Amino acid sequence: MKPIYLDNNATTQVAPEVVEEMLPYFSQFYGNPSSMHTFGGNVAMKIKEARAKVADLIGAQAEEIVFTSCGTESDSTAIWAALRANPGKRHVITSNVEHPAVKNLCEYLARNGYRVSYVPVDKKGLLDVDALYSKLDDETAIVTLMWANNETGVIFPVEKVAERVRKRGAVFHTDAVQAVGKLPIHMGENEIAMLSLSGHKLHAPKGVGALYIRKGTKFAPFLLGGHQEHGRRGGTENVAAIVGLGKAAELAAAKMEEENTRVKALRDRLESGLIQAIPNAIVNGDLEKRLPNTSSIAFEFVEGESILLMLDEFGICASSGSACTSGSLEPSHVLRAMDVPFTAAHGSIRFSLSVYNTEEEIDLVIEKLPPIINRLRKMSPFWNQPAGVCRTTV
Ligand code: PLP
Repeated sequence: MKPIYLDNNATTQVAPEVVEEMLPYFSQFYGNPSSMHTFGGNVAMKIKEARAKVADLIGAQAEEIVFTSCGTESDSTAIWAALRANPGKRHVITSNVEHPAVKNLCEYLARNGYRVSYVPVDKKGLLDVDALYSKLDDETAIVTLMWANNETGVIFPVEKVAERVRKRGAVFHTDAVQAVGKLPIHMGENEIAMLSLSGHKLHAPKGVGALYIRKGTKFAPFLLGGHQEHGRRGGTENVAAIVGLGKAAELAAAKMEEENTRVKALRDRLESGLIQAIPNAIVNGDLEKRLPNTSSIAFEFVEGESILLMLDEFGICASSGSACTSGSLEPSHVLRAMDVPFTAAHGSIRFSLSVYNTEEEIDLVIEKLPPIINRLRKMSPFWNQPAGVCRTTV
């Protein structure tokens, strides 16, 4: 059975065009791009082409792109680079809704002699920009903020903030893993110093990412080794995956319009269909400042994990909170930061679409999910009780 895949913020299908572009780089063109011979040199040329395509997608220059193994590596590289390049500064500012790739590193830093300040969000998941500005000081080495939230899709005004941060003498990094390919990005028109992206979120394979480093940004490599990536990331390149990321970037640029019209319309159809059919269903996060493909919906008084299991019986794939944190029954730190009540956070499901989704798939979810919620609510000890009863259980 072909799944109805609505979990594209967790990972995406590798585009068939991407697979096709990659295959010869396993079996035919397997040379090492650092080799002196033409066989290796041709591979280096293909990497150069991929670098230009990734740069084009975000309006950057090719020399500003460093290939990495994933979004997490890009995030770690950026944060450590800013700290190592500015050893006198030991203050980091971030938000309290970051992906674990940033959150866990910041928590490590806080345990190891750095001062970390967390900027709150409001009930819609929007960043408290003034709180951020008030935390900037002479010791601030880096401000790291996600461009778009992986759970709710809520967008932060990173371009605006970056300008202020640079003027205050700190480095601004954005984790744009969920934004790249979904939102237009023009690095030539903003002051963001570093930006992370990940291949598997935009129809390239897993195991490849990139870090944008603005020319002139003080940098210290995370992986010390060979001279690859102009000494900014040692290690023989994951050639086939880099070639795939280049092709995926080209496709994403061509499909950006579709993402923001057809995919967005499908997302809205799903959201309104479910909200009309299911009482006590509430969208988490700001309705406007949001990725076009993401909808996080709280089905109050039921367990998200139970919903997922029952959807799974119909081949429908979604996620409760972040895919990286599901497996634990703790309500997501993102929804907690937004002050979503416990009984709503627990019943929250994230649907994340892609250009491969169809109207028929969406209509099937709108048909199958309401009876599932109905069944689960009949079993729920919280359903039909006065709201106050369950909201005090936290
Ligand atoms: N940052 C965000 C916002 C993400 O959504 C993810 C993955 O879910 C990551 C970072 C980590 O990316 P990767 O899985 O490529 O390490």
